[in-house]
Amino acid sequence: AEKLLNEGEKLSAIGQIAASIAHEVKNPLTTVKGFLQLLKESRPHSYLDIMETELEKAFNTLQNLLQVSKPDLDDEPFVPIDICKELASLLFLFQGRLYNVEIEMDAIDSKRLIIGKRNLLLKALFNLIKNALEAVEDKGKIKIEHYFDEGYIHIKVSDTGVGIPEEQLKQLGNPFFSTKNEGTGLGLTQVFATIREHRGTISVQSIVGKGTTFHIKLPLN
Ligand code: ADP
Ligand code: MG
Repeated sequence: AEKLLNEGEKLSAIGQIAASIAHEVKNPLTTVKGFLQLLKESRPHSYLDIMETELEKAFNTLQNLLQVSKPDLDDEPFVPIDICKELASLLFLFQGRLYNVEIEMDAIDSKRLIIGKRNLLLKALFNLIKNALEAVEDKGKIKIEHYFDEGYIHIKVSDTGVGIPEEQLKQLGNPFFSTKNEGTGLGLTQVFATIREHRGTISVQSIVGKGTTFHIKLPLN
């Protein structure tokens, strides 16, 4: 099954509400965290450590939520980016996690630049590769390809993982849609928001049990 993914405003109402809730919840949590640290100094206890770990998780979720829901408020500048070079260095981040996964990336063959928000774009690519890794469960193949075509760069991230059932394709990118135990369901939300902000498109092709390909198209400078 194949589906063009950014036709709808995935991050509309719910995303904006989520962002303002995240913001409001963060302040009291920060206060609690501060007092928890004081408490730990005076009476160390393993329960307090557990509380701190759990608070940390809540903070991470809120942080992710704030990042993906407010791409417009993020004032990162648009700069020229050699996306192939960036992709190559991004792969280093995953080296410790590769185990039996084979990652293949095609040759860096061009110096054509896109104008974009570097951190947002890298985070989006990171999120796609992370999903691919989780889909192959440490044994399989991930392929990253790119090519140029009429003012666009195309980037394809393919994996030989579990695949996505047809009926779930339309839910991809909805904030909090996740089929994983520890998933946030915010990765693809960030990807879609970023691609949209860069006036690109993203589509997915997937066969259950065989694998998935995400295909991104971004305008060149
Ligand atoms: P999370 O990874 O936290 O679950 P994402 O937004 O990154 O959230 O992904 C949402 C869901 O989309 C995943 O839980 C999974 O069901 C599905 N998905 C995304 N990428 C892939 C992939 N490469 N292979 C299989 N399923 C995927
Ligand atoms: Mg993910």
